[in-house]
Amino acid sequence: MTIEKKLDGGDDMQIDGCDSELQRASKVPQGFNADYLKVYYGKLFPCADMFKWMSYGNDGRHPACDPSFVRRREFSFTLEKDIYVRYLSFNNVTEFENSIKKECPFKIDIGPVYSVDLAKRHAYAQGGGFTPVERELIFDIDMSEYDGVRYCCSGANACSDCWPLMTIAIKVIDTTLRDDFGFNHILWVYSGRRGVHCWVCDSRARRLSNEQRSSIVKYFHVYKGSENCLKNLSLAGPVLHPFLVRSYTDVLRVHFEEKLLCDQKLLASEDRYQKILELIPDKSIADELHGKWQGNRRSSNAKEDLNVIRWEQLKHVLQSGKQKGQGLRRCVEEIVFLYTYPRLDMEVSKHMSHLLKAPFCVHPKTGLVCVPIDPTHCEEFDPSTVPTLSGLLEELNMSGAKSESLNELERTSLGKYIKFFRSYFLEPLLKSCKEEMESSYNAKLQQSKDSLSW
Ligand SMILES: [Zn+2]
Repeated sequence: MTIEKKLDGGDDMQIDGCDSELQRASKVPQGFNADYLKVYYGKLFPCADMFKWMSYGNDGRHPACDPSFVRRREFSFTLEKDIYVRYLSFNNVTEFENSIKKECPFKIDIGPVYSVDLAKRHAYAQGGGFTPVERELIFDIDMSEYDGVRYCCSGANACSDCWPLMTIAIKVIDTTLRDDFGFNHILWVYSGRRGVHCWVCDSRARRLSNEQRSSIVKYFHVYKGSENCLKNLSLAGPVLHPFLVRSYTDVLRVHFEEKLLCDQKLLASEDRYQKILELIPDKSIADELHGKWQGNRRSSNAKEDLNVIRWEQLKHVLQSGKQKGQGLRRCVEEIVFLYTYPRLDMEVSKHMSHLLKAPFCVHPKTGLVCVPIDPTHCEEFDPSTVPTLSGLLEELNMSGAKSESLNELERTSLGKYIKFFRSYFLEPLLKSCKEEMESSYNAKLQQSKDSLSW
């Protein structure tokens, strides 16, 4: 019996008997298909947690709950053969779960909360009464934007040598959202292939207008125009903005010097160092370094990495006392910014109506689950260890004979990601939703009492 046959059976896919050798041999072929997804949605996808998140406390019994809240949220499903279904909404978690299990979407996207029930949208569309009113502030960072500054992969691919670019983006953006904007409820999610998504879920963030979203994006923005040219880098003014100084000293410089410089071999060959030398505004200095490096493949001290030696030489020349020009001193920082600073897809963040893939979806091309990333330990995140759809089904198969008292989910490698999602993100978020609801309700109550006593 092939495993595909067993998967067709839906609920019962474990190997009969308790022959461990047989179980170990029960390899689930890699891949992504509707049968695999059915098992995933049936046994592993955290429907209840996702719906709790989307309800933001409005599913409780408190008199201040807005039961229409979650009904006004748009979901969209991408079905097999790229059939795209928009404007889906669900009244409760059972509807949500049943629909996912039935439709088996290849991708689930989350859109905004609209002004009216999605079911009534046609009646309101004419007068402009159907508009987005709330949406998480979202960020999308895609590795393909970094092609000019990485040499290991290009386009849709990513590996452990270029992944530090994503680590840098998470660190810079997460710190800034918390320290400069005061947001607390931030979820980072692996996109399943080549990037990361960020969901800022504080109520203050969800209620930002498109205009306010644009100004937050502008705050992060240091590139203008095409991304791979120093001329387009605008670290405006003679003094760096404190946020850029902090990003540079705490994150960018360290990751550039300790990771990317050597892993990407940024100064190892002529075509690569030439690209960096072209960024130096003083041609005589660039020529001097070029002369020093040309034909000198091995350094005098062979123990040290060639890239590190050359970077120290470049820094020495540009930052030595001889160089009076502010522009030349700034040049070292500019090179680091160009090679490390996060490259945001700005359009995604600016508009409330943008859809974004839901966490815990499975990427159809890679079979990897879009798991949350802990921003406080993001340097430990390794995309090559992320659970895959087929791997999870295999884990379910293997653990079939073990204790039934344990929840199926917790027995798989997805379990720790779901636990993290709950404890780090969902529970604190729902606690603060409840507190906000309570205090706004009490304020209203007080107000009506005051007006009565008049
Ligand atoms: Zn790579």
